[in-house]
Amino acid sequence: MKIIVLVKQVPDTETKVQVKPGEKAISTDGVTFVINPYDEYAIEEALRIKEAKGGDVTLISAGWDKAAEALRTGLAMGADKAVHLNDPAFLGGDAHSTAVALAKAIKKMEYDLILCGKQAIDYDNHQVGVRVAELLGIPHVAVVTKLELQDGKAVAHREVEGGSEIVETPLPAVITAQKGLNEPRYASLKGIMQAKKKPLEAKKPADVDAAPNEVGQAGAKTTVLTMTMPPERAAGRVVEGEPEDAAKQVVKLLREEAKVI
Ligand SMILES: Cc1cc2nc3c(=O)[nH]c(=O)nc-3n(C[C@H](O)[C@H](O)[C@H](O)COP(=O)(O)OP(=O)(O)OC[C@H]3O[C@@H](n4cnc5c(N)ncnc54)[C@H](O)[C@@H]3O)c2cc1C
Repeated sequence: MKIIVLVKQVPDTETKVQVKPGEKAISTDGVTFVINPYDEYAIEEALRIKEAKGGDVTLISAGWDKAAEALRTGLAMGADKAVHLNDPAFLGGDAHSTAVALAKAIKKMEYDLILCGKQAIDYDNHQVGVRVAELLGIPHVAVVTKLELQDGKAVAHREVEGGSEIVETPLPAVITAQKGLNEPRYASLKGIMQAKKKPLEAKKPADVDAAPNEVGQAGAKTTVLTMTMPPERAAGRVVEGEPEDAAKQVVKLLREEAKVI
């Protein structure tokens, strides 16, 4: 089974991000970057399928130099090799041009199954995986919580409003991972050491037959006009006094100040 996993590097949710005035993306100064959590479920599922059915797992990411760290972490979890679309031309794109870059690279690779996260936790587009399927002309099932593979088909369970849906699709297909699909493993020390020797191939637009104006910012269909931090939350208010008095004060504040009752 030849499995490809899309991996995006994102800021760690624990890390404080800043947007400098006039900038259209977060400042990366002092920011810790990690593998997008939904992609960890995708990597874990790929490794379990490989352990059950044999084959190999290839990770692919479009991103700046530092994105190689996220790929190395995936290799340390147990993936076999990685492809890094690493060129300024690939940067600053939107979901469309990111998917174009990934699909062009994948067209040059062998695959029976493509796994990715349902969303990236920084831009939350929920789009790239599905767009890659569209560009490759293969089916997709999104937001999958359980996956079974049998005889060239995948049976995917996904959450829908008020219940779950079971979808059968021929392979190859793209499956986007939801929380609950599995419990991702941690990379072992042995895995981290082995990852250093595993192949990680950097590619430029020409290597994947992409014209620079098809990918990255040049190929984007949407443009970020402004990016600003959310307003600081006002400090909470402590209401002193006996419970009965305090309750009366709270009702008064909710009615007269917050105007919510
Ligand atoms: C400097 C800068 C400028 C930007 N400018 C714009 C802009 O002008 N307009 C705009 O819309 N966005 C812009 N972005 C956002 C950015 O490019 C988004 O990553 C892109 O739009 C994809 O959307 P998403 O990350 O929300 O992915 P989703 O669609 O939420 O991702 C779903 C899944 O697709 C896969 N995936 C997503 N991105 C990658 C990747 N790079 N490599 C491998 N797999 C991936 C992952 O498996 C992920 O779980 C900018 C980002 C930066 C850093």
